[in-house]
Amino acid sequence: MRLSIGIAGLFVGFLALGATSSILEMTPPIGGLALASLRDSFREVHNGHLHEAIDILEPRGTPVLAVVSGTILKLFLSKPGGKTIYQADEMGVYCYYYAHLDGYISGLREGARVRHGDVIGFVGSTGNADPRSPHLHFAIFELGPDRLWWKGTAVNPYPGLVAAVKRVKS
Ligand SMILES: [Zn+2]
Repeated sequence: MRLSIGIAGLFVGFLALGATSSILEMTPPIGGLALASLRDSFREVHNGHLHEAIDILEPRGTPVLAVVSGTILKLFLSKPGGKTIYQADEMGVYCYYYAHLDGYISGLREGARVRHGDVIGFVGSTGNADPRSPHLHFAIFELGPDRLWWKGTAVNPYPGLVAAVKRVKS
């Protein structure tokens, strides 16, 4: 009896987590990513703005992988971010943002469905990134009920990225 209650409790807990946060299911945005490559710069001020993102330094052209399964919301060319991707998770709760890309994987389009681990673009330095230090600028936004890609609230991706790298290694 106690065992069955325990298992049921775990199952309900798992469902609740799974339904509310795709962040807990992330896979790393870069293949073979090391913990040493992650630094929490979420609260730093970059170019006069709160960074609210994590920068991952990688050679130009390194494949960028979707961190969760979901839908491409927007391919956006912005002055600071350069070539960017806004990707929603399956539930439309969180939006994952990849910026300074050198380019997109060919055929990527808004509305396309992607699975976690799919190559969606390549590391670069488009936008205001220093051309001498190409990197992936990665952010997570909690979408509002209207699910508009430009209206999310920033969530610190650092703990989720650390957990994602540890899951790969274990
Ligand atoms: Zn950045």
